[in-house]
Amino acid sequence: MSKINGKIGVTTENIFPVIKQFLYSDHEIFLRELVANAVDASQKMKALASTGDFKGELGDINVRIVLDEDKKVLRIIDRGIGMTEEEIDKYINQIAFSSAGEFLEKYKDQLGSIIGHFGLGFYSAFMVSKQVTIDSLSWKDGAEAVRWSCDGTPEFTMEASDKTDRGTEITLYLDEEADEYSKKDRIATLLDKYCKFMPVPVIFGKKQEWKDSKMVDTEQDNVINDIDPIWTKAPSTLKEEDYTKFYKALYPMHDDPLFNIHLNVDYPFNLTGILYFPKIKERMAIEKNKIQLYCNQMFVTDHVENIVPEFLTLLHGVIDSPDIPLNVSRSYLQSDSNVKKISTYITKKVGDRLLDIFTNERGAFESKWDNIKLFIEYGMLSDEKFCETALKFALLKNTDGKYFSLEDYRKAVEGEQTDKDKKTVYLYATNTESQYSFIEAAKNRGYDVLLMDCELDSHFVNLLEQKLTGVRFARVDSDSVENLIPKSDRIKFEMKEDERYDLENMFKAVLPSGKDYFVNGDNLGENSDPVLITQSEFMRRYREMSNLSGGMNFMGEMPESYNITVNMENPLVSKIMEAAKAEVKPQAELPAEAPADASEEEKKAAKDAREAVRIAHREDVQAFAKSNEILRQVIDLALLANGMLKGKALSDFIARSKKVVSDAYLK
Ligand code: ADP
Repeated sequence: MSKINGKIGVTTENIFPVIKQFLYSDHEIFLRELVANAVDASQKMKALASTGDFKGELGDINVRIVLDEDKKVLRIIDRGIGMTEEEIDKYINQIAFSSAGEFLEKYKDQLGSIIGHFGLGFYSAFMVSKQVTIDSLSWKDGAEAVRWSCDGTPEFTMEASDKTDRGTEITLYLDEEADEYSKKDRIATLLDKYCKFMPVPVIFGKKQEWKDSKMVDTEQDNVINDIDPIWTKAPSTLKEEDYTKFYKALYPMHDDPLFNIHLNVDYPFNLTGILYFPKIKERMAIEKNKIQLYCNQMFVTDHVENIVPEFLTLLHGVIDSPDIPLNVSRSYLQSDSNVKKISTYITKKVGDRLLDIFTNERGAFESKWDNIKLFIEYGMLSDEKFCETALKFALLKNTDGKYFSLEDYRKAVEGEQTDKDKKTVYLYATNTESQYSFIEAAKNRGYDVLLMDCELDSHFVNLLEQKLTGVRFARVDSDSVENLIPKSDRIKFEMKEDERYDLENMFKAVLPSGKDYFVNGDNLGENSDPVLITQSEFMRRYREMSNLSGGMNFMGEMPESYNITVNMENPLVSKIMEAAKAEVKPQAELPAEAPADASEEEKKAAKDAREAVRIAHREDVQAFAKSNEILRQVIDLALLANGMLKGKALSDFIARSKKVVSDAYLK
């Protein structure tokens, strides 16, 4: 053929500098693009041979990457279908360049923010090269080898090539600025990142071995990829070990995974892959972005946030789909209907797989529950559909370490724990240490206590109350055990308001300051503790929720409030009350209120006089409280049971206890 000089049909005068400038961080994808083209051409060649369209010698089908570190030349050589002169003109001069031109034209304002990985195809070679040549010999009978060459301006030349074997050889004369790609290690790393699972053998140099105290090349080609990774195989041909082995190859530093899910669908979209539940060492140290996205075994990205639902980004593994659009912005991905379908499919598969393990391998499921619980609760809270399935397999764990399905738990407790309003009350603790005495009290009464100590449990409890009809949750320390699950309308303990007021002042004088207390008397039985400190379920939850959601609202800033229940039947309390009666003068008669026609001043004076009597009495009550060591002691014991006695208060308590003990014993 005679030499042709031509001009590439792009609109922008010289777009090479543009792409170099804007796509700087993604220059490395050129290698993936070129190897992917070579793999494509190789697979097409195989297809031609298998259909009988090609009857000649197929030879070894592979892709070779050849690097000359000194000359800074990188070659990608395939034995695929090759291209004729017309094809180069059509696919490279017209299509490849014009589509790259269009692409740039379309996105020139937002290039920086576009998804980091998209197929720029052959054109991306110019991101790293000052000159690119294509030598190609088509598979077609009588084809002549052709050489195309372009030095980064829109001008190219086409002439005859001396290439004698079928296929294409792309030669990159690397730019000074792209010097890193003339290093063997860098290329090896890139091949490992992008081409590890490509479906045609990719060869880079020779395998090495240790000889005469150094590494030397062997005769054997160094194939850098696994051409049929396990996600492309039928699940029935795979064993558990195969899945674990693959996981270990992807994440060498990780513990064995807990479960795997093999994804495989070809309609209405094409998707394969394997997802793993990782073993989490520390719940807060969960790694996201561990799912790798492939397109026909070509690595695309490990940022799948917009392709799988947020809660699934906690999983590890690979997803391979040619149906995920790659050359669009991230925000667009979320609205793409294929991506939506894919995301729904994956969510459903994960739910179904967990249900399957729950049904058929209950023991394994229970033993791994603590590890997957955060993930499942997160999924249930964030995805309605997943929640529906998960209600069938979600487990509850009680404080004895026993697991129940939601259905089984209801059956187990509804007999003992249904209250007068026909609500089944699920008691729970968030900390077995600090709530120990409450847990014991509930168990002694025949109740079961759940353990809800996960970060999301306060939200999860709310969710379950919505989903499980007739169920209410109550933290085990939210009331006295008598009142946690009221079975009948208990006769309310009656106390005259002024007596209750005295009781409140008496206790508040001694309780730690800075918190709100609601003090009330009740009959809890002679043998029950004298004082019980609880926190209302409603108030506590409200505070927790507002703290979790940023905190700075009205409730978040309120002091913590506690209910103080004084057990009037307890002998110590009776004795304290008798002492109070003996030592505190009854409140003096209140002066009369001012008559209705009195002046404002007279009214105020009368009001102040009445208030003064009340204050005087309150001070008497407080003085008594402060002087009564046993009162202090019973309050401190209650604080101690709730883990609320700290610092100076604790050391005062210890000193007082020593005194009380020696007084009682040595007297
Ligand atoms: P895409 O691969 O997205 O179609 P490219 O710009 O990478 O775009 O390539 C344009 C076309 O050039 C390809 O579709 C293919 O027909 C042809 N081509 C590129 N590389 C090769 C190759 N190594 N062997 C045969 N044909 C190739």
